[in-house]
Amino acid sequence: MSEIVALPARDTWIHHPDFYNPLSPLVFLLAPYESDIAILYRFGVDTLARRSAFFRDTFSLPRGPQTPAEILREGVSDESPIILPRTLSQDVMDAVLIYIFNASHEYPKKTKFLINLVNGATLFGIPDGITWVQKEFNRNSFSYDSILNAPLEFYIGRRFNIDNLITSGFDGLLLMSFSGITVDNIQQIGEEALQLLLDARAEIEAARKNLAYDGPAYAADEHCETQAVCGQTWDGVWRAIAFPALNHPSARYRLCEIRKVMEAHLGSMCKECKEKTFEAADYALQREERYLARVRKAVEDRWVGKGGNSATA
Ligand SMILES: [Zn+2]
Repeated sequence: MSEIVALPARDTWIHHPDFYNPLSPLVFLLAPYESDIAILYRFGVDTLARRSAFFRDTFSLPRGPQTPAEILREGVSDESPIILPRTLSQDVMDAVLIYIFNASHEYPKKTKFLINLVNGATLFGIPDGITWVQKEFNRNSFSYDSILNAPLEFYIGRRFNIDNLITSGFDGLLLMSFSGITVDNIQQIGEEALQLLLDARAEIEAARKNLAYDGPAYAADEHCETQAVCGQTWDGVWRAIAFPALNHPSARYRLCEIRKVMEAHLGSMCKECKEKTFEAADYALQREERYLARVRKAVEDRWVGKGGNSATA
């Protein structure tokens, strides 16, 4: 591979603190284009070659008497290391080595580690690494540091067929504010999902707006003797509490949460009328959930459960 960008000066190369074992035969240099670090690695390449198609193919090339001297010298010392792909980042390289050489209880409990590993495992052809990450993400007791932001979650989920991330990422996209969305985010979401998302959001928004302005009607209990007060309370609380809660630009409530929001303010309404009115309003208040269920179903039909296929994009 021809090097477009020169390697950092030799005197800046450093040994990796964990993955430089002087007893291992081959030396590698990682000098990512995106940074000016240069790190020497020396690890059990045979172990890696047993697990990784990339290392197997690269280091099982026959080396005989015809092999040029510079190839034979390659990797034998710090002075002539084998240059790793320069698009590779240290985080990805380290995640692969941690996965291969460390015990699983030593793996970092970081979501970032999982993402670096699944990227590295894809790049180096380590199918069990991909499967392991998929399993970790799909475990119910997810014990890693943080969940990703919704667009990235959705992207990683689709790219590596991780069902949990696809569904939770899309849920996050449905609810997130689009004001801070970046071009990167849009690429992560992808054309097809973006269309689905925008349609769903428009439908949900319309349903919320309609209901907010034209709230569910008060439904009087037939035995109630204070129907005028009960009816006025309902209408007043809807206007004063439910309407702003449904239209608040940041602290938005779902339609189905409106009962919870209104409840504390309905003290002047009798219990029977309250029950009756919420019962009558239930279908309207579940409208958003019905839209959400429909679009989730569309996402599932399209992307979930494809894990049997190759895990590359
Ligand atoms: Zn009443």
